[in-house]
Amino acid sequence: MAINTENVSVEISKTSKIDSVDFSNLNFGREFTDHMFVCDFVDGEWQTPKVMPYQAMSYEPSARVFHYGQAVFEGMKAYKDDNGKVFLFRPKQNFDRINKSAQRLAMPAFPENYFFEGLETLLKLDNEWIKPGMGNSLYLRPFIIATEPAISASPANTYRFMIICSPAKAYYNAPVRVLVAEEYSRSADGGVGFAKAAGNYAAQFYPTSLAQEKGFQQVIWTDASTHTYLEEAGTMNVFFRINDTLITAPTSDRILDGVTRKSIVQLAEDLGIKCEVRKIKVDEIKTAAKDGSLKEIFGAGTAAVISPISAFEHKNELFDIPVSEDSYAKLFKQTLLNIQHNVSEDKHGWRYEVK
Ligand SMILES: *Cc1c(COP(=O)(O)O)cnc(C)c1O
Repeated sequence: MAINTENVSVEISKTSKIDSVDFSNLNFGREFTDHMFVCDFVDGEWQTPKVMPYQAMSYEPSARVFHYGQAVFEGMKAYKDDNGKVFLFRPKQNFDRINKSAQRLAMPAFPENYFFEGLETLLKLDNEWIKPGMGNSLYLRPFIIATEPAISASPANTYRFMIICSPAKAYYNAPVRVLVAEEYSRSADGGVGFAKAAGNYAAQFYPTSLAQEKGFQQVIWTDASTHTYLEEAGTMNVFFRINDTLITAPTSDRILDGVTRKSIVQLAEDLGIKCEVRKIKVDEIKTAAKDGSLKEIFGAGTAAVISPISAFEHKNELFDIPVSEDSYAKLFKQTLLNIQHNVSEDKHGWRYEVK
């Protein structure tokens, strides 16, 4: 692949860490590739973007991101097919979303040409880190932080946009047990739930740790005002299958508009599976669990693709969901992976080849 960039300056790493990485035994998000993408916003403008060796950076303790959490991020993946071609999946969605998130946190929008040139340059330099094989990928983490060294409580005047990359392995997702939120909330009307704001995650760690003490891996968040509607899981959107109908909550300012979620809604239509996008009462799902019509619950997001849910608890009532062999979870996971890895037809033009 040729490196020819109009706008991005490139400094190639003199050494590579790749031989020290055990690709058969990867811990998600712990190993990073040889390069990173960096672009600073100074004097009201994004400066020349750079791809450079992955390295630590230093900021003054007063940098605003440390105090006010002015930070947003994205999560996406690059895939390699058996002929060595590299693909992204619907990357324009991630580009649009990071700017939506940035706007909500009073941060400047990042230019589209810098985003795509930076991403592609990085993927060409770190191409060897993208392993072929169904489910293997390179996880990409674009993010923006407020860097200005000043602790007055107002938006910063300087920012840094970055992309770092971490190899990820196909892994079997053991079904998870979830607790339905009754007291804590992830997001509220008029808040930042729709944004991939760093603070949304920080605020979930404590209630999730309480759920973990009770033997659950995740929380399913409900609406903040009544706790009667099911909204989404910690890092995933959620789908419910009642008989042969899928149901997922509509997006709103409280719910993240996931790329995986919207792709599943489209694939359901393609596959002739009825999918309803509507509000879902906790009581409706409990009733369905009791009468046996609740067949599946699963989470959907870029990192795990699809995570089947095997049990949920609400108001001290525990419901087990039988995990079946011919599940929608399996079907949608395989259908998505086949598109992402260039194995099946891509009738919606979701693949984006990095040439
Ligand atoms: C990122 C994220 C998702 C999943 O979004 P994808 O675009 O499918 O990866 C769902 N919920 C929350 C809260 C998220 O942050």
